Amino acid sequence: MDKFIVSARKYRPQTFDTVVGQKHITTTLKNAILHNQLAHAFLFCGPRGVGKTTCARILAKTINCQNLQPNGEACDACTSCKSFNEGSSLNIHELDAASNNSVDDIRLLIEQVRFAPQMGRYKVYIIDEVHMLSSSAFNAFLKTLEEPPPYAIFILATTEKHKILPTILSRCQIFDFKRITLNDTVEHLQEIATKEAIRAEKTALQVIAQKSEGCMRDALSILDKIVSFTNGEVSYQNTLEHLNILDADYFFKLHAFMMQQQLSEAMLLFDDINRKGFEGDTVLNTFSEFLRNVLVCKDEKVAHLLEVVESFKDKYLETAKNTPSSWIISALNVLNDAEINYKQARNKRLHVELALIKLTYLQQALDLSSGKKKITGSTKAVAFRAIKPIAFHQEQKTNATAPAKLVIEEPAKQAPPVTEAKISTSAQKQASVPNASTRLASLSKIRQQIASEIDNQNPAKPIDEESLQIAWHEYILKLKTSGKNAVVTNFKMMECKPLSPESIQVVCNSEIQLGFLKQERTYLIDFMQQFFHNQAVTISIDFTESIEETLPTERPLTIKEQYLKLTENYPLIKTLKERLNLELDY
Ligand SMILES: [Zn+2]
Repeated sequence: MDKFIVSARKYRPQTFDTVVGQKHITTTLKNAILHNQLAHAFLFCGPRGVGKTTCARILAKTINCQNLQPNGEACDACTSCKSFNEGSSLNIHELDAASNNSVDDIRLLIEQVRFAPQMGRYKVYIIDEVHMLSSSAFNAFLKTLEEPPPYAIFILATTEKHKILPTILSRCQIFDFKRITLNDTVEHLQEIATKEAIRAEKTALQVIAQKSEGCMRDALSILDKIVSFTNGEVSYQNTLEHLNILDADYFFKLHAFMMQQQLSEAMLLFDDINRKGFEGDTVLNTFSEFLRNVLVCKDEKVAHLLEVVESFKDKYLETAKNTPSSWIISALNVLNDAEINYKQARNKRLHVELALIKLTYLQQALDLSSGKKKITGSTKAVAFRAIKPIAFHQEQKTNATAPAKLVIEEPAKQAPPVTEAKISTSAQKQASVPNASTRLASLSKIRQQIASEIDNQNPAKPIDEESLQIAWHEYILKLKTSGKNAVVTNFKMMECKPLSPESIQVVCNSEIQLGFLKQERTYLIDFMQQFFHNQAVTISIDFTESIEETLPTERPLTIKEQYLKLTENYPLIKTLKERLNLELDY
């Protein structure tokens, strides 16, 4: 039986043209070789598994080829090429800096550089994971890197370019390797499958490519695993099973149930997924990803960001058309919160179910808040209007998602219910100011009319500073007798002043006070209306957060901040760091 060689090694590209997804680099290198403009030091950086070492080896082989092709590729037939292919060439030295990172290792390498190659033109030194070299090793290396003998070429490879000293960076020609795109990966996998006589469904390869996130080595090893697991039959179903991925079909169904507000169906589907062995957080996370994809499809400009199995693309586009953006964004919010709190939840299943319930009724909530649905029947009519300029300034400062602070006008108690009243958010109001103000104007007209009718029997008292303070004091006394001590304490801290003969402004300084005030608001309005014999009395809330509360809360310092703080107090530490060339590990 032949010895099994993993695909990543067996199908390692041997020429520049066969390198996948790095055309910008291979073309530059080929041109440099053809025009004899080769640098003596290269830095290859980029994520793992995208072909850095492979390109370094191909470069080494090509520049040593005795019979260079006119297109800049190695001939793959001369003795030099053959020895490279067999791995027996003496002109290539690979050093893994992850395990050989000391000064001695580098000195050993520099020793070797002094000897010219016995065969071929160039000696190529590949230093992998070069960011792992210690600073002293880096420094020992600098001189050689700057002025190497004409036959020596250094290729440094790293996944973390930011960790390389600037002195090294300036001495190298830098090449940035890209993540391999989904399509490129799929094409490459398809080629290998054909060569190996593996029956592979395209959708399955797409799933593998998606899972490997642009790393070809990962993609190939996943393919190897599935092939040995399934005896050469790579289908969509067994790939999902093997990679423990949830089929997107589930989420299309779940999404449809939610849009139709079919809670029981959604719960049954979640139960079904759960029985298959998928944990709740996987469901939340995958559903977020699904919704992200739907959101991406909303705009054709960004639709190319969609990296999903080809056959699902149309389905995503269709779903995007039928789902309002506001729903998707709110749903992503709900899912995000649920994911964050998942760890702390005692009953994980219930936690996920709660999130699903919220999502199922999300559309209703959105309709209500956007004013699409009218409140009818016995519901008490409440009119909201945008906050006044002074208070509005406050509102802008706070988070946009926080419940908007509104001035709420309570209509006259005995007034007939205003049937056309609508509830709408302040945001929407701001968007349609003229419309809203005219509507509100007509409302207040009705209100005044009714109020004046009642006033004829019992003349209204105008609100002035003095009488208001008496009324406020009386209300606090009333609270005290009913035993609401917490409310009393907070009410005593608030300020109350007349805004006009018919409106009162209450100023509160903290979220807690605001909470109590909102809780008491209806009773307070009733009380004031009775006190001033005027059903048109309104109360507005001015919320000014005190400065102490907006101060940033304390948090632990990061390592960099700790270092900066230390150097502030002990400047010698900075000198020590510079003189010993120490690096911070952050
Ligand atoms: Zn050759």
